[in-house]
Amino acid sequence: MKKIVITGGAGFIGSHVVRRFVNKYPNYQIYNLDALTYAGNLENIKDIEDAPNYTFVKGDIVDADFINELFQKHQFDGVLHLAAESHVDRSITDPLSFVKTNVIGTMNLLNAAKTIWKDNFEGKRFYHISTDEVYGSLGAEGLFTETTPYDPNSPYSASKASSDHFVRAYGETYGLPYVITNCSNNYGTYHFPEKLIPLFINNIINNKPLPVYGDGKYTRDWLFVEDHAVAIDLVFHEGKNHDTYNIGGFNEWQNIDLVKLLCKQMDSKLGRAVGTSEQLITYVKDRPGHDLRYAIDASKINKELGWKPSVTFEEGLERTIDWYLSNEEWLRNVTSGDYQKYYDKQYL
Ligand code: NAD
Repeated sequence: MKKIVITGGAGFIGSHVVRRFVNKYPNYQIYNLDALTYAGNLENIKDIEDAPNYTFVKGDIVDADFINELFQKHQFDGVLHLAAESHVDRSITDPLSFVKTNVIGTMNLLNAAKTIWKDNFEGKRFYHISTDEVYGSLGAEGLFTETTPYDPNSPYSASKASSDHFVRAYGETYGLPYVITNCSNNYGTYHFPEKLIPLFINNIINNKPLPVYGDGKYTRDWLFVEDHAVAIDLVFHEGKNHDTYNIGGFNEWQNIDLVKLLCKQMDSKLGRAVGTSEQLITYVKDRPGHDLRYAIDASKINKELGWKPSVTFEEGLERTIDWYLSNEEWLRNVTSGDYQKYYDKQYL
């Protein structure tokens, strides 16, 4: 029996990872550790809450005493660390909270794992889930590889870069067995609607403006979240120790083209005339420090572990839209209260 703690399992990507591990590995005991911030929602994993191999633990990774006690009590064999402050816009208005959770929180987990594992690392693994944003911005050409130097531009990416460095340093200094992945933008079900795709789906449903930053020419690579969960499973079990893998969708889109595709699919799903949703597009003042282009070279994970995305962007987007349209209550619940206040401040 393996005991695994997954942090941030009530969030977007974490919920997909928890679901996959609980269902696929009945012989593992999965602990989902999450502080349930505004981005955490137990509704995201309601379907597995009664599974015999699943335990939810509410707690803050910034609280070192709590983390140490938890690790001493359960003697975890593996850590999949996803808990983070994850929204770039929020990192611009409140950078310190990103340092606390993303840097100090990661340090607390590293220290707790190092303490319980001592020097016996057999069968142990610390997996840090990170972002391609640590590499900074690309021009029109080129791709991020695993050896691209770090060059973060936002407080979010700086905090993730810092935590990546600490994970690597614990590997070099103390021999801690670790693996890191840096992934491009995810989209899919259970995505909190402050991020572009769910925000725009929600706004189209409600006939609200679609705020596009700057000239809309920013380019991102997009990956369906369930494909990311498959990659995480593979890297956790088969990735090389003390190594890094880039994960991406081989799927670059300029923001404005993506928004137009989304509008087209939404018009068709909602039975609206072609072009109706596009009229909601509103260009807004650019985000400070906005990176022009991110693009991932995911050939290492493809060659070494045989992973590649399983769905096209059009398919993934359609599945995502269908889910939001048939889960309006989930959407209503997460877009009331504090979210509404944040949204009004940010975009109106
Ligand atoms: P999310 O914001 O949806 O979820 C984060 C989760 O962490 C929430 O459930 C929240 O309650 C929890 N959390 C936050 N602070 C905590 C704390 N102090 N203690 C315990 N739990 C806390 O994030 P996401 O989009 O699912 O991203 C998950 C991870 O993947 C992050 O580390 C992020 O940097 C990384 N990542 C995300 C993307 C993406 O496109 N979303 C891409 C690449 C990497």
